[in-house]
Amino acid sequence: SGLLAGKRAVITAAAQGIGRAAAEAFSREGASVIATDVNEDKLAELAAVGIEVAKLDVLSEAAIADFAARTGPVDVLFNCAGFVHAGTILETSEKDYDFAFDLNVKSMFRMIRALLPGMLEKGGGSIINMSSVAGVPMGVPNRFVYSASKAAVIGLTKSVAIDYIGKGIRCNAIAPGTVQSPSLEERMRAQGNYEEARAAFIARQPMGRLGTPEEIAALAVYLASDASAYTTGHVHVVDGGMSL
Ligand code: NAD
Repeated sequence: SGLLAGKRAVITAAAQGIGRAAAEAFSREGASVIATDVNEDKLAELAAVGIEVAKLDVLSEAAIADFAARTGPVDVLFNCAGFVHAGTILETSEKDYDFAFDLNVKSMFRMIRALLPGMLEKGGGSIINMSSVAGVPMGVPNRFVYSASKAAVIGLTKSVAIDYIGKGIRCNAIAPGTVQSPSLEERMRAQGNYEEARAAFIARQPMGRLGTPEEIAALAVYLASDASAYTTGHVHVVDGGMSL
């Protein structure tokens, strides 16, 4: 038993951070999880605890088509892959802009196009897309292309939700505040003074602490499960009060 018993779930960017916590939480709740990422070394750690893993680059339409054909129909898709660029609009290059939209938004277009037909065949499914408080809930300084791309995720989410609402498909977005993860660590270190950078990230969280990947994974479990059967197309904010 468990909230996700009998469900087959695919998670992107599941090797570390929120995606990994979700793979572990989904599995604990009884789902049969396929944890995917480009980082095979880190995926091996999940394989070691009995979770099915697959290398999958969400930038590649061909790799995704191949993955979908191998995997067959699933009940849950958690699109977690994303990258944070720092900078204002004047500090953002065409290359960074294109990369951010490719990884943060178009990857979801590719994954949903590949896995939605199987969900429709099954008669239902839950799609969860990773957005952020940066974008629609609030403006965050120095996060121009990140915010633009995470806002686009919300339009994509609502569009899929409304088009398939009569077919048993739900599609929701998650909007976390600042969450302790390997890439957040890198962003802190990249700023030179680690302690100062960490204090600044904590200072923007009214609860006085960073969120944990497990706290975001708990929301993903809810949205993946039938407990959330009456919600679709919305942004579920889990941000320690950041956007209050
Ligand atoms: P992270 O950034 O530490 O890890 C990201 C993972 O994505 C890595 O395992 C990496 O190998 C994988 N990845 C990168 N490119 C990929 C590709 N082309 N195909 C497949 N996988 C790829 O993890 P995180 O900080 O928990 O972030 C996960 C998601 O949550 C992102 O979409 C991020 O924008 C979002 N988010 C994070 C925070 C935060 O504070 N950490 C806040 C809001 C939203």
